[in-house]
Amino acid sequence: MKFFIRSFLLIQFLFTFSFLKGQSSLIDSLFHTDSLRHIVEVLASDSLKGRFTGTTESLKAADFIADEFKKAGLSPVAGNNGYFQEIKSSWFNVIGEIRGKSKPEQVIIFSAHYDHIGSINTNPHPEFGGQAEAERGDTIYNGANDDASGVSAVISLAKYFKALNNNERTLVFVAFTGEELGLLGSKYFVADCEPDSIIAVINIEMIGRGQFSNSNPFVTGYEKSDLIDILNRNYRSVSREKSKKGFLKVDINTSELLFSRSDNYSFAVKGFPAHTIMVTSASDKYYHNLNDETKTLDFNLMKKVIRAIAIGTSGLITGKDTPRRIKSAF
Ligand SMILES: [Zn+2]
Repeated sequence: MKFFIRSFLLIQFLFTFSFLKGQSSLIDSLFHTDSLRHIVEVLASDSLKGRFTGTTESLKAADFIADEFKKAGLSPVAGNNGYFQEIKSSWFNVIGEIRGKSKPEQVIIFSAHYDHIGSINTNPHPEFGGQAEAERGDTIYNGANDDASGVSAVISLAKYFKALNNNERTLVFVAFTGEELGLLGSKYFVADCEPDSIIAVINIEMIGRGQFSNSNPFVTGYEKSDLIDILNRNYRSVSREKSKKGFLKVDINTSELLFSRSDNYSFAVKGFPAHTIMVTSASDKYYHNLNDETKTLDFNLMKKVIRAIAIGTSGLITGKDTPRRIKSAF
């Protein structure tokens, strides 16, 4: 019996180790700075004029994301028009999924918003920065960090999880519209969801520019559920990181109220464990600024953050981990 238990543990260890090793090399082969850069360059190009919700350029951005979802091998979600969920005329969330093998009714969401604040011509915001650039003729709020960086993460994670092909739960990948106008895309999305269907929401915002000395990603509303402890625990098991605190840090910018300022909030008010993973806060000098351009992003940093999310969510994907629901009143 002892021998049997020992052999069993050894086999289990070897299995886990080879699985994690395989997972790790798949990550390295799928997450390239070049492909992240390509996605950001397209979305943040001047030709998309700052992706203001409802514009022709915003529809072009949605088409591009839908194409990427198709290339990743995602399926459209029933009830939508292909990858598009229409909110009203010319307003679309872009959504694709990988159905879960044994627990398809349990959903993990990976999201980011693809809309931004347009240009000085279409959407004048005298309070926003970049006056000198405006005088030099730059009028477009490109939104490379906010939030083309997050969309590039969602697309890359879709490709990764499709290739990994071990999700027991259903994985839903969403690029929201209308975030900058008051989280409107995510509010519409969540109104349509079954009350107990969503196990966790990983929203990704502004991961392309280090703002503080260590550039570690932080998580908004860290203390409101145990989702982040779960992600850090999974991350530590693969990376052998020594730090007890893990790779994902507590949000120290609490006065900025970031937890309630991105699409995670639409889910959190319904009790779903929903947080935003960020690197840059709203006090960044390029936030909602004409200078939020592709050339200001650090693609190695983005790759590192996306890799951590891929590893950190492994227990959510396989159905091993279930985070606590958020119950505090807002
Ligand atoms: Zn944003």
